[in-house]
Amino acid sequence: MREIITVECTICKNKNYTTTKNKKKHQDKLELKKFCRVCRKHSPHKETK
Ligand SMILES: [Zn+2]
Repeated sequence: MREIITVECTICKNKNYTTTKNKKKHQDKLELKKFCRVCRKHSPHKETK
């Protein structure tokens, strides 16, 4: 079962991306390195609720 999750920039808290993940396989918070338009650089993005 895959759920749609939102990831936000850990620096500016802008919600930049959505992705899907399998909550049974990945129980810890997802963290991705993504380009943030607000910061104008790559930054760590974390899953939000
Ligand atoms: Zn940002």
